[in-house]
Parts: sequence; C-alpha cells; structure tokens
Amino acid sequence: MAQIIDGKAIAAGLYEQMAAEVEKYAEQHGRRPGLYVIIVGEDPASLVYVRNKEIAAKKVGMVSEVIRMPESTTQEELLEVIARLNADDTVDGILVQLPVPRQIDKDAVIAAVAPEKDVDGFFGMKSGFTMKKGYVAPCTPRACIHLIKTTGTEIEGKHALVIGRGELVGKPVATLLLNENATVTIAHSRTRNLKEIALTADIIIAAVGKAHLVTGDMVKPGAVVIDVGINRNEEGKLCGDVDFATASERAGFITPVPGGVGPMTIAMLIRNTLDCYLARVNKR
Ligand code: NAP
Repeated sequence: MAQIIDGKAIAAGLYEQMAAEVEKYAEQHGRRPGLYVIIVGEDPASLVYVRNKEIAAKKVGMVSEVIRMPESTTQEELLEVIARLNADDTVDGILVQLPVPRQIDKDAVIAAVAPEKDVDGFFGMKSGFTMKKGYVAPCTPRACIHLIKTTGTEIEGKHALVIGRGELVGKPVATLLLNENATVTIAHSRTRNLKEIALTADIIIAAVGKAHLVTGDMVKPGAVVIDVGINRNEEGKLCGDVDFATASERAGFITPVPGGVGPMTIAMLIRNTLDCYLARVNKR
C-alpha cells in the first residue's frame, strides 16, 4: 500500500518556515516582501483564487494587495498598471490572474511583467526546454518536484513519465525533471502504448484532466505517482487523473486529490515571491 504524500501538511510546514524567514529578512532588509495580484473582471472562481493568494501571502507576513480592474479594461490600461508595479521597488511579485478578457492579449501581458518579479514563472518557461535565466519556476510544476523530493526519492537517473504536454503543467514539469537529471518521457493524447510506457516509469506525473486515466495496472510497483489533474467523478466528487484506489495498491508514494498538488501550488507562489524578494534585496 502506497504512502500518501500529504500536500496539505507539507504546505503547512512550508508556510511556517516561510513566516520565520519573512520575519528574519524584514528585520535584515528593512521591508517585507510584497505580492501584488491583478484581476481583470468578475469571474467568481478567479476572485476566490486571488483572495486565497492574498490570504496566503499575509499569513506569512508579506505585504499583499489585490488590484481589481473592470471587465472593460483595455490592454493599454493593464500594461500601465504592470509598468507601475515593475517600477515600484517595494513590489517583489506581480501576478496577473488568468484568464483575462478577450480584448487583452494574454501573452503580451505575461511578457510585460519584469522577469525578476514574475512569480507565476510562466514567461521563463515559454521557450521550450530551457528555463530563462533570472526567472523562478512556475508554481504547480515546482510543487510537483517538491512533493517528489519529500518522499526521499532521488530523481536523478530515474525514468519519469509526464502524461500531458500542456503549457501550464506538462511541458514545464518535464523541463524541471530534465534539470533534475531524470530521463523524461512525455505522453499525450496521441501516445499509443501508454500502459507499457507507464509500467517502466519510476515517477509518474499525470497532468491531463481525465478522471481514472491512470489505473493501478499501469503503475510499476513502488513508483512515485503525482496527480495534478482536477476533475469531477461520476458522483460529482473532486478527483484527479489517477484512479487512487487501484494505483495506491501498487505505488510507493501517491498524492491524493484533493489534498495533494493543489494546496502546494499556492505555497509555491509564496515561495516564488520570497525567492524574488531575496534575489532583489541581495542584488543591492
Ligand atoms: P491542458 O493544457 O489541456 O493539457 C492537457 C494535456 O493532456 C494535453 O497535452 C493532452 O494531449 C493530454 N491528454 C488528453 N487526453 C489524453 C489521454 N487520453 N492520454 C494522454 N494524454 C492526454 O491542461 P493543463 O492546463 O496542463 O491541466 C491539466 C490538468 O491539471 C487539468 O485537470 C487541470 O485542472 C489541472 N491543474 C491542476 C493544478 C493544481 O494546482 N492542482 C494546476 C494547473 C492545472 P494533446 O496535447 O495531444 O491534446
């Protein structure tokens, strides 16, 4: 039976550690890290996400503010706010909550955030399998790597299978695994022999968005299984891409959904903000 990787508990530990760091650095450098989240429009789910990010930042003692802009905001107006935050020395992290309304070019907005303040880390990963210098890694992929490491598993030399080649999770997490010296396979909707490939993987990261895609008979005994997917099952309950009941009988370690990768993603956003702050204060 697999050991459960408790993302909630691991995130709680990280918040405690980061809160202590923030106090120490605030004293050393005379100011606290600042995270600014911009939201354009009234999408209810996005409003909850940005609120949770602000709460998490404040929980560790950071300065945090949500900047709300109306649905009718033009790209120029949004870029102006980003430019102002880029130029503000007390701002360490800038995050534009996606999606943005149709009149705004998402890529132009992401590109406008100063590299040293891009706490989402999307732009740094936009150029294939290289992380641009000076950027932090995107939050969810970074969370996956952190969760694997908490199991004590050495990633170097292992066969890691990433299922899904999305821009937000699949591709960047594959890049991070490569940087950790894993041998990486990326599977997608056209992959023909997923089960055979999966059975040779020491680490499986599922980032697809399809309930029960990975079943126990696809898992090599003892493998580490990280489930990024967020779906609703037949009963309307939240579940991942991995069939937890059968996969946990074969895996060595497995993340649950909910309570696995999800809670770690915001914790990694706060870590990214702290890392951006440290890079900036130490540059002076
Ligand atoms: P995405 O961009 O839509 O990518 C999905 C990928 O899955 C695509 O590459 C697609 O292949 C692949 N795929 C579809 N059917 C498949 C199949 N039968 N076998 C193998 N691969 C298949 O999605 P995403 O943004 O990366 O998100 C993936 C999942 O992670 C979603 O459930 C999302 O909600 C979740 N998520 C969770 C968090 C978190 O914090 N926990 C954060 C972000 C995302 P093709 O490229 O061939 O179409």
